[in-house]
Amino acid sequence: MQKYVDCVIRNGNIFYNHTLFHGSIGVDEGRIVYIGKDNLIVGKKEMDADGDLVLPGGIDTHVHIREPEMCQRGTFQSETAAAAAGGITTIFEMPISAPPQYCPEILQKRIDTASAQSYIDFAFYGAAGRETQYFKALAEAGIIGFKTFLFSPLPGRDQEFRGTCMDDDGALWQGMRAVAETGLTLAVHAENDAIIQRCTAALRNGGRKDFAAHGLSRPPHAEVQAVEKIIRYASLLNIPVSFCHVSCPESLLMIKKAKAKGQRIFAETCPQYLFLNEESALGYGPYAKFNPPIRSRCHQEEMWPFLLDGTVDYVGSDHGAFLFEEKERGWDDIFNAPAGSVGFEVRLPLLMTAVKEKKISLAKAVDLLSRQAAQVFDLHPQKGSLLPGADADLIIVDVKTPFIVKSSDFLTNGREIARLYEGQALYGKVLHTMVRGRFVYSRGYLCESGAGWGKYINTSLLQRRGSCFSW
Ligand SMILES: [Zn+2]
Repeated sequence: MQKYVDCVIRNGNIFYNHTLFHGSIGVDEGRIVYIGKDNLIVGKKEMDADGDLVLPGGIDTHVHIREPEMCQRGTFQSETAAAAAGGITTIFEMPISAPPQYCPEILQKRIDTASAQSYIDFAFYGAAGRETQYFKALAEAGIIGFKTFLFSPLPGRDQEFRGTCMDDDGALWQGMRAVAETGLTLAVHAENDAIIQRCTAALRNGGRKDFAAHGLSRPPHAEVQAVEKIIRYASLLNIPVSFCHVSCPESLLMIKKAKAKGQRIFAETCPQYLFLNEESALGYGPYAKFNPPIRSRCHQEEMWPFLLDGTVDYVGSDHGAFLFEEKERGWDDIFNAPAGSVGFEVRLPLLMTAVKEKKISLAKAVDLLSRQAAQVFDLHPQKGSLLPGADADLIIVDVKTPFIVKSSDFLTNGREIARLYEGQALYGKVLHTMVRGRFVYSRGYLCESGAGWGKYINTSLLQRRGSCFSW
């Protein structure tokens, strides 16, 4: 007897059990209920995937959306629309907003704002600075982990960094101890502030304002030294740490050794450290300004083996929209432009192109885009893989024909600052994005009523129900 479900996608190349499987995937009440070859199930809605890839929805571990303040840079609605267009079904939002979520009241306001607008599911990191008295309450409110910076708030951006900074070793040690009591993972922006401050002052005093000066102001050893220290503190406190946007192979080597000793140390890197280097990025000036900076060609090449050997756990986009005017200021003085760029709509195509070029396998790309983030942050198997019983978060991706990156088509509010891959031919055009059983994005168009479909992932509600969680 045939069974009716909400939706069946047929003729897909489904990424299932670490490999591709040609068949159908059935979805009912927001969950995957069937993956197979026979025709026993019928969908109220049926779709032909035309042999395209059906992959787990992307999980982006590194996202900046500023709302409720600075909506001119983008809103939860505009930026999660861009995420959906980039094949992302879950984001982990970082606390640099004004104000950041360092206490439960601010967190709740941001949850409410995001709930009303988001196309995709979202989790929040809690800000971890000197306000350790709120850590327990933030953990109870269901944050995915904590995020901290090792420097003082950036000049003129005090509001955005309030409660997020452990700016000396004492604050760091105390803060990590407080995080350890919650059992959650601490995500760290690891760069040594004292080195950066001294280097920046020396360069500025010498009249340097050019793009390369930014790179020189944040040398590789500023990252390496911070990573080394945090690994030691984490070992003493037995606390899981996720290193954000790792840019140096030397850092990854230390992370690899810590992992081998059984420490719960995780590494994120970002496309800019894999696909760009100081030379190739030079002409983009402030549009290629990131913290940490884009590194040398040698560094870039040496990052890749750490993807293959499992040292890098996930590739986050570090998506953050800025205004054209804000970035333009950096042509005269690179130190006056904000660091960061938009990345949702290129993250998956860049990795799919690397698969096409045989730099990594498809299974590795899926690990880096979805599965491992879900595993590290305890969302697996509900998120991150296509499995019966899991949330029906999936994407249909065309890897047969290349497309030309055209930022004017991007849905992010920061499309004007998206310069880095403009005009490149990439593989991995996202055709459809489904979040918990509902297509929120299809062939360039958003589902009209999709804004607000996205749900807050409250990790304090994680309860095992069979093989699945319920939020
Ligand atoms: Zn960031």
